[in-house]
Amino acid sequence: MPSFSLKNVLKSFVEELAYTELDPKAVEEVSSTYVLKLVEEGVALEVAESIFRDLSERISGKKVGRLENKKEIVLKEFRRLLEDLFSRAGKIDIWQRTAETIQQKGYFTIVFLGPNGHGKTTTVAKLANLYKEKGYRVTIAAADTFRAGAIEQAQYWASKIGADFVSLGYDADPAAVAYEAVKRGEKGLSQVILIDTAGRMHTKKNLMDEMRKIVRVSQPDLKIFVGDALVGNDAVEQAKTFYNEVGFDGSILTKFDADTKGGAALSIVYITRKPIIFVGVGQGIRDLKEFDPKWYLEMLLD
Ligand code: GDP
Repeated sequence: MPSFSLKNVLKSFVEELAYTELDPKAVEEVSSTYVLKLVEEGVALEVAESIFRDLSERISGKKVGRLENKKEIVLKEFRRLLEDLFSRAGKIDIWQRTAETIQQKGYFTIVFLGPNGHGKTTTVAKLANLYKEKGYRVTIAAADTFRAGAIEQAQYWASKIGADFVSLGYDADPAAVAYEAVKRGEKGLSQVILIDTAGRMHTKKNLMDEMRKIVRVSQPDLKIFVGDALVGNDAVEQAKTFYNEVGFDGSILTKFDADTKGGAALSIVYITRKPIIFVGVGQGIRDLKEFDPKWYLEMLLD
């Protein structure tokens, strides 16, 4: 795992603040020189601005004497601010939810949403593999009937993992694929149904209609946004679109292994106020790691 360059930026920000008076004007002056530096590290502009505003409210007017104490206080408040952000987003215990839902109605359905190329199909395969390892009967539904190769890619993983696979070909209605897959659950043939979807962004309206239809038909227990950590501010905008148009319960951030900056997780949680459930840490089937805000904040601040 690379170390994040955002860490160095935050470190020098805290040091600089420790040398100024902790009054709103001085804090704002220092912060304003750091907004763009944060943006360069993958933090969305509105997120950077808002974090600095929050911090200023927390530290302005604090009476502290020695430099060391000041640094400690700024860092402590900054850490608290970020901890609050992650704890407000909540936590999803996916394994517990799965077990409880299966006990109640026999099967658990997840719809995966997100832009093309961000890693949806790969992530579906990784999660399918984890469910298989836990002993569940798993179905992968190839409801990305748009991207060339998406069906074969999903099928390849399904057969490698030993998961059931549902496809109706490329010109099929994706909602019909989702419906077929859910029927396997209703019939008791499958316990976990993972629905891959399309992510083309150039025909946004149609895509969002398609997503809403898939959701209406499959009535998922969980909707997960899959976003690429490397895309930075664009991913945040795309997350917003999916969130406003379709809605989701949490995210998976992919390509975390290749992210040297580190701001994406902060941005996505800030914008969506929903937890990150997993991060993708490579292209292999086992490269999915449960996301722990504590671990992320340690990487940024310690
Ligand atoms: P989709 O269009 O959203 O279904 O995206 P794909 O699943 O086809 O993934 C696009 C590319 O990203 C593929 O080359 C994947 O191997 C790669 N990828 C997906 N997740 C990760 C990850 O966590 N780390 C890295 N390094 N690559 C990933």
